Amino acid sequence: MTQKAPALFIGHGSPMNAIEDTPASRGWREIATAFPKPRAIVSISAHWITAGVRVTSNARPRTIHDFGGFPPELFAVQYPARGDPALAADIASRLKVFGAETDETWGLDHGTWSVLAHMYPEADVPVVQLSLDASRPSEAHYAIGQALAPLREEGVLILGSGDIVHNLRAFFQRGGANLEAEERQFDDDIVNATLGGEHESVLAYRRHPQAAHAAPDWDHFFPLFYTLAAGSQGEPARVFNRHYFPGISMTSIAFGVPQ
Ligand code: ZN
Repeated sequence: MTQKAPALFIGHGSPMNAIEDTPASRGWREIATAFPKPRAIVSISAHWITAGVRVTSNARPRTIHDFGGFPPELFAVQYPARGDPALAADIASRLKVFGAETDETWGLDHGTWSVLAHMYPEADVPVVQLSLDASRPSEAHYAIGQALAPLREEGVLILGSGDIVHNLRAFFQRGGANLEAEERQFDDDIVNATLGGEHESVLAYRRHPQAAHAAPDWDHFFPLFYTLAAGSQGEPARVFNRHYFPGISMTSIAFGVPQ
């Protein structure tokens, strides 16, 4: 019997989490022990932005080091999870109305592998990435997430990887050890709206008084829409990794995982 897989939103923060033992990376290891190993993962990462919806169909997706200014140890990381061409074709077909096409140019970017290196260090779960189509509004991303939701019944984990608070300018300009109060307020309000099933207010996050400061980068916020859409009302949800840096929240939410 296939066990229904969770829908996760992971705040991924710095790529260095991939190779460091941090409170966040420990949280990723721990959450993976809270549910059975999925059959496959479809990851929606902030770091793959395309014109048109794309889904990776490589049997052996490459590990992409899509960052600069980090130590050689990070560039040496390989995450050799297999792809799942059949699942990719299935997803492209489910998302046909959105014009989805399979893609062999991308692989796994750090939004995916920095997290999975901790959740599944053996890289023994096949992974497919789905791009963020930059040409579409919030509602379309949510609708794509809804179309993916039934895959959970087939043991496919939905992983949105971004950051609820993501302001790199604030990150580099401020030396503080924590979020500013208004960023924290934004993070709290989004979490509460997510848990309260207020999907429309999450989709309309730009109306929040702190949004321009806390979430100026749509690409890190939008992965949450997929998780939100793939999680069902009344389903148990767990909020974890409430760790904060200036301009970054690691806040993560798991639907379908007991408290
Ligand atoms: Zn990122």
